[in-house]
Amino acid sequence: MNPKEDKPKEPPGFEEPPHPWHDVPLAQWNDWRWQLRHRLNTLDELGRILKLAPEEEAGISAQNHFRIDVTPYFAALMDPDDPTCPIRRQVIPTARELDGFEAAMVDSLGEDAHSPVPGLVHRYPDRVLMLVTTLCASYCRYCTRSRIVGGKAARFGRAHYDAQIDYIASNPAVRDVLISGGDPLVLATPVLEDLLQRLRAIPHVEVVRIGTRTPIFLPQRIDDELVEMLKRYHPLWMNIHVNHPKELTPAARQACARLADAGIPLGCQSVLLAGVNDCPNVMKDLVHALLQTRVRPYYLYQCDMVPGAGHFRTPVSRGIEIIEALRGHTSGFAVPTYVIDAPGGGGKVPVAPQYLISQSPGRTVVRNFEGFITTYTEPTCYEPHDASRCPACQRKRDEGGQEGVASLLAGERVAIAPEGFVQSHQRLTRIRWRPIKQALTIEEEGE
Ligand SMILES: *Cc1c(COP(=O)(O)O)cnc(C)c1O
Repeated sequence: MNPKEDKPKEPPGFEEPPHPWHDVPLAQWNDWRWQLRHRLNTLDELGRILKLAPEEEAGISAQNHFRIDVTPYFAALMDPDDPTCPIRRQVIPTARELDGFEAAMVDSLGEDAHSPVPGLVHRYPDRVLMLVTTLCASYCRYCTRSRIVGGKAARFGRAHYDAQIDYIASNPAVRDVLISGGDPLVLATPVLEDLLQRLRAIPHVEVVRIGTRTPIFLPQRIDDELVEMLKRYHPLWMNIHVNHPKELTPAARQACARLADAGIPLGCQSVLLAGVNDCPNVMKDLVHALLQTRVRPYYLYQCDMVPGAGHFRTPVSRGIEIIEALRGHTSGFAVPTYVIDAPGGGGKVPVAPQYLISQSPGRTVVRNFEGFITTYTEPTCYEPHDASRCPACQRKRDEGGQEGVASLLAGERVAIAPEGFVQSHQRLTRIRWRPIKQALTIEEEGE
């Protein structure tokens, strides 16, 4: 997408308020608090700027729907005449949102079960997800946290932050903290700064990341005051959320440029959505536009199995096909990792096309993106890494050794068995069992 070629009528953002907000003074249009105060959420307000389809009217009028709110800035990007507009689909509900589907789960990722304190998800050994607000600038219809986001019931505040930070401070294994929500950048700058300051004061917290969609929903939020504050808390990383190239307006690009200029590495987490970006060519346009904006495509998520998102889901094969169309065909760092966030709480699992065709002890056969098949001849003189003389391996052993499948490769255990496996296989009397964490270890007799 070359912004010079297909210039939109009036780029919304920092230059001039678009129709029907042309009477709004520019200073107000560019004030993020004005944008939040003037969000659209009723049938009446949305009907004034969009020619609503009956399906949309039914979705907006439904009882107990997931919160609707759209910033005027983002609403101005919608095609008023086309209900299939990819911008519109992301934030305007339709009646299909009410359809149930097999296997839908309110907490699809099992986050609540991994919460040692409210709003803190400790799923991986060395990093935690910190939910600091349930509010967003606009609400994505496929929200994976719609069970808490947008609601008035579970707001997070000072008392929660204290408990979350205490937990992190008392767990030296946590070296990476993800600040998320909701959208952390809807918090007032001093509140956010207080959080960053307190996290930075914990010596074992090496990296802090912020997950936000404000550069896309509310680029006005990325003002000088915010950016000046953020850059005092490096190393600070940020992941934004973009699903379609139309979201990368001049204003959004300018917001990202300010963040990148402040030394904040930017990544993008996209969600694969039917009718929005389930197309290899749209995705290629998106990743190219992201690179031009200095944003590295990080993850492409398979849509979670949450209520309301059923009609956005695609077969997994669609995602594989998209990665097939990207890898090799474009810059390596334009290709995101396609992941399924494991239902039930397994964390993110990468899924990818197969490039390894076959193997023998001497050779590995691989194929490339063009279908060219070739052989890598394995070395015959490889001297295996000597873990007993490696300081990094020594340190890992002192910390208790490898976990998961890596522990099998390290020879630290022989098998990992699901819970209940021992009880249902009592006939294996010659194997002694010892539980390690949640998995089990099989040890050979006499060890
Ligand atoms: C996504 C996620 C993380 C971070 O995962 P990365 O692969 O390191 O980006 C951490 N905790 C939870 C609960 C997550 O969902």
